[in-house]
Amino acid sequence: MTAQRDIHHFVNGKASPGASGRFGEVFDPNTGEVQAKVSLASAKELADAVEIAKAAQPAWAATNPQRRARVMFKFKALVEEHMDELARLLSAEHGKVVADSKGDVQRGLEVIEFACGIPHLLKGEYTEGAGPGIDVYSMRQPLGVIAAITPFNFPAMIPMWMFGVALACGNAVILKPSEKDPSVPVRLAELMQQAGLPDGVFNVVHGDKEAVDAILDHEDIKAVSFVGSSDIAHYVYSRGTANGKRVQAMGGAKNHGVIMPDADMDQVVRDLVGSAYGSAGERCMALPVAVPVGEGTADKLIEKLMPEIEKLVPGASTDPDAIYGPVVSKAHKEKVESYIQMGVDEGADLLLDGRGFKLQGHENGFFIGPSLFDNVTPDMTSYQEEIFGPVLQIVRADELEDAAALASNHQYGNGVAIFTRNGLAAREFASKVNVGMVGVNVPIPVPVAYHTFGGWKRSAFGDSNQHGFEGVRFFTKIKTVTQRWPSGEVADQAFIIPTMQ
Ligand code: NAD
Repeated sequence: MTAQRDIHHFVNGKASPGASGRFGEVFDPNTGEVQAKVSLASAKELADAVEIAKAAQPAWAATNPQRRARVMFKFKALVEEHMDELARLLSAEHGKVVADSKGDVQRGLEVIEFACGIPHLLKGEYTEGAGPGIDVYSMRQPLGVIAAITPFNFPAMIPMWMFGVALACGNAVILKPSEKDPSVPVRLAELMQQAGLPDGVFNVVHGDKEAVDAILDHEDIKAVSFVGSSDIAHYVYSRGTANGKRVQAMGGAKNHGVIMPDADMDQVVRDLVGSAYGSAGERCMALPVAVPVGEGTADKLIEKLMPEIEKLVPGASTDPDAIYGPVVSKAHKEKVESYIQMGVDEGADLLLDGRGFKLQGHENGFFIGPSLFDNVTPDMTSYQEEIFGPVLQIVRADELEDAAALASNHQYGNGVAIFTRNGLAAREFASKVNVGMVGVNVPIPVPVAYHTFGGWKRSAFGDSNQHGFEGVRFFTKIKTVTQRWPSGEVADQAFIIPTMQ
């Protein structure tokens, strides 16, 4: 039995034990045992944290952007210093292997690096002489208190996408991380404080629906950035915007990898293995659908793919040789396994069945072996829905147009990839496909931090993306000043804008 810890909120620069009397259980996915108890906030606790954030925000907003950037630089250095500790903590609660956890932290840090450039990013525009003696300039100002609500699958990267940009812009932040793996977000807040962020500017409030609803209804929270599953994303978007908030809500995914007959099949196999099964398939940019195009391509693919998948034995998240670890919870393991059964019932060919996998010494862990389906068709529910586990589905297509139509017509539109040596075909595909992020011979096309992340259709509600300049735009409001300093002849002219003359 693992010793249990208590995970508290982090408010006003210090740990704040929950007062609601409600707790969530944090599991060790390797063993299936409860390892910690996390406080779940009431609406009152959430409101208390907002009050603190609201009081702290004006001074932070008034701190010049260069000084705010210095806090980001310091934070980056501290996270790098604590990389091993953060990665171990992340693996212990999420279940992904330590190398993947380091990737999770690193990809978030890249957004912090982007946020270090905030003085440049906040520069406005200026027009001299828009009229006689008239100049016009614009500035970007912070919104006030914003909330970030994040999923379990990237407990370091996704919070950093949001708080990195939001804080640099001069906002105060309430982060409501996933209650399944809440420790890393708290450590990040502690490190931010160590980096010099004033108390109260960044607060972590744990919770479930009660805390989320309190965020969505609180009038002092001006914007909500959400990432999670689509139904909840839609709910957050609808309720938040109905309350007059700015909301961006990223949802689920079902990304397709289109494999053209001219693709380098060895590269495709390596990429598919990593992107379909890595992190146990619990990535919104995973590639769980392979679409081989043309006669013979699917058979060639399967011949090379099967032996590689058979080598993929999951292991404990602490095992340096494990390719991937357990999934996050017992309920999630059962859900993934039920989708495998659904695929069988719907008539797809199950070439490899990962159900019933037991890791010696970790028999109660939430492990699932790799599964592979062939002859999956678009009418199957197991194809239409997100499985979010180590399951790859092959859907055969005759022509590139058919493959592109599969991705374009799917309810989700997060990412898609094409594997080919034909530049023209790739270019046409990238231009026409109805999906937000496209990879050309890149299986997981997560854009770099200074570009922007966001899907289409039911993968994102709202009209702005995460990080890059889109992030700055989301976390600021623009003000435009028209100023007139009349002098000389100009002073005698009537001031009429707009004018017909
Ligand atoms: P989830 O929707 O269960 O939870 C996300 C957040 O919503 C959590 O903070 C959770 O506490 C909260 N929440 C859960 N149920 C709620 C309810 N009924 N009312 C209000 N709030 C609620 O998602 P998850 O299981 O933590 O994460 C996996 C999902 O996130 C997958 O669907 C994955 O595709 C998606 N995801 C999307 C992206 C993206 O950028 N599009 C990135 C990562 C993950």
